[in-house]
Amino acid sequence: MPEKDKIRFREFDFSTKLDLNIDILHHTERIVKGLISQRDPSIQWVFQPYVDALEEMSEAIREEQPIVYHNFTVLPELIYGMGIIPYHHEMLAFICPTEYFAAYKDLSFTHNTPEHLCSLLSGTLGIALSDGLSKPDAMIYASHPCDSGVATCQALAEYYGVEPFIIDSPYDDSREAHDYVTRQIKECVTYLEDKIGKKVDMNVMREAVRRSDRAHELLYYINEMKKKTPCPIPSSIILRSVSVAMWGMVGSQETVAWLERFLEDAKERAERGMGGRYEEKLRIAWIYTFPTFDPAIFEWMEARFGATSVIFQGAEHMYWPTYKPLRRPCYDYSLDELCAIMADKSLNTPMARQARGHFDYFIKDVVHWCREWKIDAAIFSGHIQCKSNWSSAQLAKEVLMDELGIPTLIYETDIFDPRVTSAEKTVAYMEPFLEMVAEKKLFEAF
Ligand code: SF4
Repeated sequence: MPEKDKIRFREFDFSTKLDLNIDILHHTERIVKGLISQRDPSIQWVFQPYVDALEEMSEAIREEQPIVYHNFTVLPELIYGMGIIPYHHEMLAFICPTEYFAAYKDLSFTHNTPEHLCSLLSGTLGIALSDGLSKPDAMIYASHPCDSGVATCQALAEYYGVEPFIIDSPYDDSREAHDYVTRQIKECVTYLEDKIGKKVDMNVMREAVRRSDRAHELLYYINEMKKKTPCPIPSSIILRSVSVAMWGMVGSQETVAWLERFLEDAKERAERGMGGRYEEKLRIAWIYTFPTFDPAIFEWMEARFGATSVIFQGAEHMYWPTYKPLRRPCYDYSLDELCAIMADKSLNTPMARQARGHFDYFIKDVVHWCREWKIDAAIFSGHIQCKSNWSSAQLAKEVLMDELGIPTLIYETDIFDPRVTSAEKTVAYMEPFLEMVAEKKLFEAF
């Protein structure tokens, strides 16, 4: 690689013993805002969802609102619809500095958290054990995508002495399955009314669901832009922001405004034929998860091989294949109808869609993304605790090769914790694979 293209991976210091009994929310807020201010002003908007999510948590505390936890597959539009701000307790583990995340995760192990629990959630439990979270008045979890969520919910419920509401996820995608979730969401509204002491205002609920619909629609169009060659969206830096905006804040006006800006930016770049910083030679799909601790991994792929990461299946909120559902323009939906709309979306969130039932969904989605977005190679970055999807990795690899002739790299990592598979080790796995893919593409061009 030419010297000018040498990529610097993030350096972490795991040797220092951190004080975990700090106000991690405001500490993270200060760090995030400081880092954003050092960026070029023209791209600072990219990171706005981090600021919005952290400020929302602070606001919920300052305003002495009821604190309502939701796990990442319970779309927060339900909580916005009750006229309150959701408290993104898992998001704090996702956003806080990696050294803190690792220390919180380790702390949870000293309190009998098993190592096979998803590390995002052991990190969250560590923050709770350090008094870094506000005590909840209510907690809503869904049993998808995996058992880690329910186990975490039970642990938090016992720790805080709070009765949770758990949405039981169906295995399949039948009408009965959707109706089953719809009924539970309606029961959850009653649960929230009881816990926060106020009745649902239908106009507020309609507005939150409508904004969430709009956010999903915008993201659908953004993903359509990614079909262009070169891909006009520099995914590596914007990716985590999309997760924060959708998992944490869908149903808010902030997320709609941010996605509108994002789509405008993508359109403008596409019209000018702009891709990333490096010429696009290969198009990559990350099927399921991807390393979140160092964007330099994606930059390295682009610099070394012109390999653009186009698809991140574990984070693509596309509302697919039910997009684009018909809506009445006046949006005068009853509570039952709104709950059905929310159930449909909840069952199609990333991970919830691919990990809750038969692996047909996961495999079909893999083929869909790779075919429609003209992908050259797939990467299954197997999160070490993701027991369910590991079982289908080899199957996905074989189907991709058989149906589309696309090779797949499978490797093991912890997507949040670089101590398991560092950025350097990750690219060492990728280098021979991407060399082979580049040669294959060259060979096929002749
Ligand atoms: S990343 Fe895997 S282990 Fe973690 S919550 Fe998602 S499905 Fe579960």
